[in-house]
Amino acid sequence: TKEDVKSYLFRNAFVLLTVTAVIVGTILGFTLRPYRMSYREVKYFSFPGELLMRMLQMLVLPLIISSLVTGMAALDSKASGKMGMRAVVYYMTTTIIAVVIGIIIVIIIHPGKGTKENMHREGKIVRVTAADAFLDLISDYYFLCRNMFPPNLVEACFKQFKTNYEKRSFKVPIQANETLVGAVINNVSEAMETLTRITEELVPVPGSVNGVNALGLVVFSMCFGFVIGNMKEQGQALREFFDSLNEAIMRLVAVIMWYAPVGILFLIAGKIVEMEDMGVIGGQLAMYTVTVIVGLLIHAVIVLPLLYFLVTRKNPWVFIGGLLQALITALGTSSSSATLPITFKCLEENNGVDKRVTRFVLPVGATINMDGTALYEALAAIFIAQVNNFELNFGQIITISITATAASIGAAGIPQAGLVTMVIVLTSVGLPTDDITLIIAVDWFLDRLRTTTNVLGDSLGAGIVEHLSRHELKNRDVEMGNSVIEE
Ligand code: ASP
Repeated sequence: TKEDVKSYLFRNAFVLLTVTAVIVGTILGFTLRPYRMSYREVKYFSFPGELLMRMLQMLVLPLIISSLVTGMAALDSKASGKMGMRAVVYYMTTTIIAVVIGIIIVIIIHPGKGTKENMHREGKIVRVTAADAFLDLISDYYFLCRNMFPPNLVEACFKQFKTNYEKRSFKVPIQANETLVGAVINNVSEAMETLTRITEELVPVPGSVNGVNALGLVVFSMCFGFVIGNMKEQGQALREFFDSLNEAIMRLVAVIMWYAPVGILFLIAGKIVEMEDMGVIGGQLAMYTVTVIVGLLIHAVIVLPLLYFLVTRKNPWVFIGGLLQALITALGTSSSSATLPITFKCLEENNGVDKRVTRFVLPVGATINMDGTALYEALAAIFIAQVNNFELNFGQIITISITATAASIGAAGIPQAGLVTMVIVLTSVGLPTDDITLIIAVDWFLDRLRTTTNVLGDSLGAGIVEHLSRHELKNRDVEMGNSVIEE
């Protein structure tokens, strides 16, 4: 019908605009690069992009809370239990496959030649032990801005470490030589000092989305949604409140989507203008970059679509086509959590995925399911072993795959979080954490690609979970329909 044609054109206009933004942004970036803008000029120039980041980030908190609460409340405990299980199985399976691909690819291509000569180093990295990082996941996650049980819910909604606008990335040496836990044991004032130093200097975000404690909010919202879902009439007001909040946020997302192409254009152009000179990126690093790209492509273009097809028997490319805007936003923002609002829109509107599924699995997926990050962590760790001439035995490779999985779960959906959690992987097999600095120069770029893979994995996962849960969803519909009739 006429309406259909109109909405088809409308949707494709969006995709077209977004793709154009990427192309124009890239051209503009390379055109302006020779002018060597100053730090301040780059900041002014990237401002429209920064604005997009902030607008998206602004919506993420209310979106996570309202969608999870309503998502949980809309399901009965059996359905949500089953759906949750399926989501977790999907997350784990795909993450492990990603890790294995990363390991195989890096062993076959072997980008590290057993020498660190000619490799450019940038700065130092903060030392965190694997134990710190694991404990932090549950209680005080100083480094990665998440913890499962936030003592203060309101505080959890705020960024978890201070931004220092002058020192914008790991390029600045980080001098915290101690672990936080060690410092606490040694003496309290020193611990405070270390903490201050870390909060001042650990600025993981060249693109400036500050981390909020998403994991804590996810856990709380799920429990809360579960409870009000079981409250009968008394819960009605809250259910309606969160439902309407969610609807309102999604309308705001619709507005921001119009601005997204402009923001993406400037995010990409700005990054190209300020990036390191390519000359610095020597042979080994170039090979490493290629290896990561090959690994991510295998996972994103072959494995995930195939899995989707095998489970649902539907055409994965049609599904992925509906996701284009989310994927490009991930590429532009380097952040799966900032992309979340767009991912919602694409899945629900273009691909017609059931809202009870998206609301339930997307916020969780964006927080813990990161295939691209897992693949990259394992691959990068083995690359670092290679440049150190460090022979890994089978047991160590298994250790790397386990810690890379944990590190991807532990990474927040913000730019370059994966680089920070790399420390867990390296320390687990005794590799020098300082060597993370070897790969920093290309990380901003690889981060964009792995974020895109992460978002793709979350989205295909929503499609797969919806397919597997279709019976529960239908039963629930019947049930709800019945209760409406009874009323
Ligand atoms: N930037 C990635 C994301 O948001 C995480 C990472 O650094 O790997 O998904």
